[in-house]
Amino acid sequence: MGRVGRARAGRPRISEAAFQAQVMAFARRTGWLVHHSRPAQNRSGRFSTPLSGNAGLPDLVMARHGSVAFVELKGDGGSIGPAQVEWARGLLGQPYGWVPDRGRAYVFAFPGGGVSFGYMLAYPDDFDALVAFLGEPVG
Ligand SMILES: [Mg+2]
Repeated sequence: MGRVGRARAGRPRISEAAFQAQVMAFARRTGWLVHHSRPAQNRSGRFSTPLSGNAGLPDLVMARHGSVAFVELKGDGGSIGPAQVEWARGLLGQPYGWVPDRGRAYVFAFPGGGVSFGYMLAYPDDFDALVAFLGEPVG
């Protein structure tokens, strides 16, 4: 939030909040449990997300049938911050200096099957890739 976006060719600019609402609706329709921590306003009027530990956890933490998905969302014109990159590196076992590709599904299946783990950094233009990453409805 707070970064200035630019209009994209052919459609109006989409904010991270609007994109997140779209993604959360899709995820719930397709059977994912979804967690998101919303910023809260404190007495001085500032917004922050109360947490202990390291900031930068991806926006959405999801679980479905033994799969866990972490999704960092950005609106048009947004960019990933250093703490968010550090979380992506930690989750994916990548070295310092590595940065996730936008719209790319990083997926790992554990031996034996059934359980998998994934991460994606997604912008509004990546919605189709995100739908493929999260998969089709189950049940
Ligand atoms: Mg975000």
